[in-house]
Amino acid sequence: MTELVQHWIDGARAPGVSRRRGDVFQPATGEVARQVVLAGQSDVDAAVASAVKASRDWAESSLSQRTKIMFAFRQLVADHRDELAGLITAEHGKVLGDAAGEVQRGLEVVEFACGIAQVLKGERSEQVSRGIDAYSLRQPLGVVAGITPFNFPVMVPMWMFPVAIACGNTFVLKPSDRDPSASVRLAELFAEAGLPPGVLNVVQGDAEAVNALLAHPDVAGVSFVGSTPIARHVYETATAAGKRVQALGGAKNHMVVLPDADLDGAADAAVSAGYGSAGERCMAISVVVAVGDTGDELVEAIAERTRLLKTGPGTDEASQMGPVVTAAARDRVMSYVDAGEAAGAKLVVDGRGFASEGHDGGFWVGPTLFDHVTPEMSVYTDEIFGPVLAVVRADSFEAALELVNANPYGNGTAIFTADGLAAREFERRVTVGMVGINVPIPVPMAYYSFGGWKDSLFGDTHVHGAEGVRFYTRAKAVTSRWPRQAHGVDLGFPAHG
Ligand code: NAD
Repeated sequence: MTELVQHWIDGARAPGVSRRRGDVFQPATGEVARQVVLAGQSDVDAAVASAVKASRDWAESSLSQRTKIMFAFRQLVADHRDELAGLITAEHGKVLGDAAGEVQRGLEVVEFACGIAQVLKGERSEQVSRGIDAYSLRQPLGVVAGITPFNFPVMVPMWMFPVAIACGNTFVLKPSDRDPSASVRLAELFAEAGLPPGVLNVVQGDAEAVNALLAHPDVAGVSFVGSTPIARHVYETATAAGKRVQALGGAKNHMVVLPDADLDGAADAAVSAGYGSAGERCMAISVVVAVGDTGDELVEAIAERTRLLKTGPGTDEASQMGPVVTAAARDRVMSYVDAGEAAGAKLVVDGRGFASEGHDGGFWVGPTLFDHVTPEMSVYTDEIFGPVLAVVRADSFEAALELVNANPYGNGTAIFTADGLAAREFERRVTVGMVGINVPIPVPMAYYSFGGWKDSLFGDTHVHGAEGVRFYTRAKAVTSRWPRQAHGVDLGFPAHG
C-alpha cells in the first residue's frame, strides 16, 4: 500500500476529513512514492483552531522555557540531519550533500531563535519627563501561517516557524504538496523537544488550503515563499483581509563578470550556482553577463565544466546534479530550451534528451548552456527554474548594471571582479536585495535577513534575523508615571520639562 503523508494537527499525525489526495513522486525514477492528503476548509479550520487554543499559553510561556525547547529542537534536528536529507532527496530529487546543506541552513535559523531573549529586548528611557519613563516592547501576533515552495522543503519552513514560535506565536505551516514529508517530521521532532501540542501545526494541501488560510479570521499574519504570481495573489488577498504579509517571489539572478575577474574562478562559480540543485534555487544564477571582450573565453570555460558535470540520482554519491521535481517541470524547462534555440540563442551545451542510465523514467534535464542570449528572448525574461544558464554579452559595466536594474526581479545578484571600486559602485547602485561580491549565491546568514526587491518581494520585511523578529511581533510603546501626588487638571498638550 502507498504510504500516506498526513497533516500534523494538535501534536499528532492526522488524516483530516478531506478525501482529496495528491501523488508524491520520486523524481529519480518517476514513480509515485507516496500520496499526500490535501486539506479542505474543515482541515484548515481544525489546524487553526488548534493553534488558537495553544496561543494563549504559549504567549505566556517564559523566554527561558521557549529557549530550552529551541535548544532541544536544535539538537534533534542535528541528530536527524541524514534522515531529513534523505526525505528531501527522495521527494525533491536534489543530491544528498546538497540536501544536508539545506538542513544545515535551516538549523542556523533555529540557532538564531535560541538567542531570542537577546533579540526581543526592548528599549527603555528613564525620566523622559519628571517622574516619567518610556519603554518599548514587542509582543507576538497570535496565530501566523507559513506557505512554502517545493524547492527547500526543510530550509524555507525553518526560515519561518522557529522565529515565529520563539517570539511567542503559534504557527500553521502549509508546505508544498510535491515534497510534504519533511515538514511533518520536523513537527514531530519539535514535539519531542517539548513543544506543546498546537504551537506548530502542519496542514498539507494545495491552493484550496492556501486560500482558506488567507481568508481565515484567526490568522494574523502570513509568510509566503514561492513564485511571483502566487506571491502577488497571497499578498493582495491576505492584506485585503487585514493580515500582515511578507510574500517572497521568484527570481532571475544575474552574475556580472568584469574583464578583470579571475575567469576560472568565475566559471567555477557560474557552473556551481547555475546547476546546483538542478537550477531549482531562488538564488540560482540563471544569467551570466559577460562584460567586454572576455565573453568567448568565459563561455568556453563554463562549457568545459558544464560538459563534465555528472547528473544522476540524488542518492548516488557520484551525482553532482539530480533530476527536476516533476515531469511537468521537466517539460516546461525543455520547452524553454526549444524556444531559446528557435529565437536564435546559441545552444552551447544541450541538456535535452539526457536520461540517467537505469533510471529512464526519472525527470531528467541535463545542464544546458546558451550564449548570445538577448533581453527579449523568453530564456532571458522568464524564470525557468531548471538547469539552464544563459550568457548575455554587455559592452561595459554601465550596460551590465542597467540590464540587472531593468529586470523586474530583484532577488540576488553577483559581481565578479578584481576592482574594489567597481564592486562598491555595483553594490551601491544595483536594485537587488542580496548582493554577492565574488560570491555567486549570497544567501545571508540566519542573523541577517533574507529577501529580494521589486517583483521578488511583496511586503516590506525580509525573513529571519532582525526583520523576521519584527515581522512576527508588534511593537508597543509605554509611557509610565508613578506619581506621589495628583498633578491637577491640564488641558494643554503635555510639554516635557
Ligand atoms: P509555487 O508558487 O507554485 O508554490 C508555492 C506555494 O504556493 C505552495 O505551497 C503551493 O501549494 C502554493 N500555491 C501554488 N499555486 C497556488 C495558487 N494558485 N493559489 C494559492 N496557493 C498556491 O512555487 P513552487 O513551484 O513551489 O516553488 C518555486 C518558486 O518559488 C520559484 O519561483 C522560486 O523562485 C520561488 N522561491 C522563492 C524564494 C525566495 O526566497 N524569494 C525561495 C524559494 C523559492
